[in-house]
Amino acid sequence: MTELPGTEFEFVVIGGGAVGCGVAYSLAKSGKADILLIDRADDVGTVTTSQGAGLAGQMRSSVERTKLAMHSVQTFRELQAHAAVEPDWKEVGSLRLALSDEVVAQFEALKGVADHCGLESAMIHIAEAKERWPPMDFSEVKAVLWCPSDGYMLPKSVASSYRHECERMGVQFVTSTSVDTIEIEDGYVTGVGTDRGKLRCRYAINAAGAHAYHIGQLAGLELPIVPVRHEYFVTVDWDGLDPQFPCFRVPDLTLYGRVADGGMLLGGWEPAALHTDPRQFPLGAKAPPIEPDWNVLGSFEDKMAQLFPAVRGSEKSRVGKGWPTFTPDGQFIIGESSRVPGFVMAGGCNAHGISGSGGIGQLLVESLSDEPSSSYLEGLSPDRFTETEWDWAEATSRARAVYETYYGIET
Ligand SMILES: Cc1cc2nc3c(=O)[nH]c(=O)nc-3n(C[C@H](O)[C@H](O)[C@H](O)COP(=O)(O)OP(=O)(O)OC[C@H]3O[C@@H](n4cnc5c(N)ncnc54)[C@H](O)[C@@H]3O)c2cc1C
Repeated sequence: MTELPGTEFEFVVIGGGAVGCGVAYSLAKSGKADILLIDRADDVGTVTTSQGAGLAGQMRSSVERTKLAMHSVQTFRELQAHAAVEPDWKEVGSLRLALSDEVVAQFEALKGVADHCGLESAMIHIAEAKERWPPMDFSEVKAVLWCPSDGYMLPKSVASSYRHECERMGVQFVTSTSVDTIEIEDGYVTGVGTDRGKLRCRYAINAAGAHAYHIGQLAGLELPIVPVRHEYFVTVDWDGLDPQFPCFRVPDLTLYGRVADGGMLLGGWEPAALHTDPRQFPLGAKAPPIEPDWNVLGSFEDKMAQLFPAVRGSEKSRVGKGWPTFTPDGQFIIGESSRVPGFVMAGGCNAHGISGSGGIGQLLVESLSDEPSSSYLEGLSPDRFTETEWDWAEATSRARAVYETYYGIET
């Protein structure tokens, strides 16, 4: 068994998905040292992250969330330009298609926020959209919102790219190692226990994805982090689909997609979400296995046929599936617990943990600085759950509702 790379660190990051790797990268870039990232898998980015569709969309309904996404895109751009291991970032832009007046109004509001943030976007003519995505049928489309700096990446490559850059900056990584205790003395975190022995640290950062609930419990914190099933399929390759076509989102149909492996990747948000209760599986076990649900995937296909008839009955090459985590208010959980100083959260990603990873890392660094936090960052604190009363049934139902209304509209 490989030795642990030391016994004392300033920061131990628990979990090496996009979020943990993005956090380690931001810490190192901000000049922090003595950082160790631990993952129980044999490599980084192999769990939920490897299943992600990889879309990064920056147009969000609030200024703070938009800026977070813009910071992430800036990070992917930087990695793509300078890192020895590329994140396979493709800045192809994105098209949002409105099929109803309600969504046209939503696009206008999104554009207002983007303008405020200095994010370039435009309502474009259907003819221009058709030029950007020629095989799509735009005849039912009422408006198109274009964001040229959106794009997609390969999620596993992003984690590898972060890791490579982190190691260059001195961060250490240890894989095939499980964290099984959080050591606390006089109320403060003093270290973590692993299946290879104990380590002392000042900060234990919980980026354990679908196991973030369990790691929180090790510190005595009950956090409503609800894994909700999410899926997409990829068709076999087709002539005429170009990887440079923009990503697309169709809020009225609750669908998103892009070109992948020469075919179409099509994902969506189903109206009746399926969650798993993290209290029902232990830290030492994986989250429950997911079989492709062809009723749900088939409904994505049926809906998309309205805009892209060839998808109906198409042969599929693979299915992406996993348990991204949702919170009752749809917001990330980022920052140090005031109840257990030294215990820091980076979880509850609400299915944008890959695209959000750069911004999440930046906010986490900010949360640990001596500067006063913004009200947005304060609102992401784990304290909003640990210092208030809530119950699981209500929290789960709200987290599911966040999933079911992902594009801000009821279906
Ligand atoms: C089908 C699908 C499509 C998606 N599409 C997108 C998309 O287009 N864009 C986007 O931004 N997001 C997307 N997401 C969401 C995204 O995948 C997640 O938000 C993101 O991967 C979460 O990253 P993470 O690092 O928190 O979790 P994970 O990637 O799951 O990483 C957590 C890590 O913690 C480790 N771990 C757990 N317990 C322990 C322990 N005890 N000790 C040590 N290590 C431990 C695990 O091994 C794992 O590597 C999608 C998700 C799915 C399922």
